[in-house]
Amino acid sequence: MASVTPQPPCRVLVVEDEPSIAENIEYSLRTEGFEVTLAGTGEEALSILAETGPGFVILDVGLPGMSGFDVCREIRHRSNVPVLFLTAREGEIDRVVGLELGADDYVVKPFSPRELAARVRAILRRTAVVGGESVSQASTGKPSAVGLVIDPERRRASWNGTTLNLARYEFGLAEVFAAHPGRVYTRDQLMDLVWDEPEASLDRTVDAHIKSLRAKLRDAGGPDDLIVTHRGVGYSWKEPA
Ligand code: CA
Repeated sequence: MASVTPQPPCRVLVVEDEPSIAENIEYSLRTEGFEVTLAGTGEEALSILAETGPGFVILDVGLPGMSGFDVCREIRHRSNVPVLFLTAREGEIDRVVGLELGADDYVVKPFSPRELAARVRAILRRTAVVGGESVSQASTGKPSAVGLVIDPERRRASWNGTTLNLARYEFGLAEVFAAHPGRVYTRDQLMDLVWDEPEASLDRTVDAHIKSLRAKLRDAGGPDDLIVTHRGVGYSWKEPA
């Protein structure tokens, strides 16, 4: 797993207008070894973003002036930095809206700062895997796993030109496989890389999503053996010939 660990320290930009919440987050992230910059408004956040290029953004939805949604849209025009939304209540944002805006995840207040730090680390692990070769290949439109093309920004995938209508975790699995065709991943590794709360999921969750991803690849005309089962170990994307 060493190859997917992000290089510390990562600088996190925390955009939160409530000083006590901002300070809690700052304390917790610093304890976990992150560098932290605070911003109280979206406007301030965007100028810090331009100056310092943080490795991660935690973004409150309810900000005075520019809303968190607008800030996220603006960030996405300029950068691929991972964005985690903070929302005041479930329902202020749904997962689909957040993802359409290009956010990576969201956390509902009140949250434990430790949980938040764990979520940041999980997202960094996930984006580290796809942050290298597959993203750059996808942005130039080249196939990343021979036939499989991933567009992480628009969260789209295709097989030999046929669009794959993938659900969230199917897309996550495809992204991981595309980055390293041939590499064998255990169920635990896939869980860790793709799921936001790995500890709450079961091994058979991975199996179920692999099964549905395989079905969609088959529907798009892909051969049956694109995703190889390694009995008692896990899965890999078929090694390119
Ligand atoms: Ca707020």
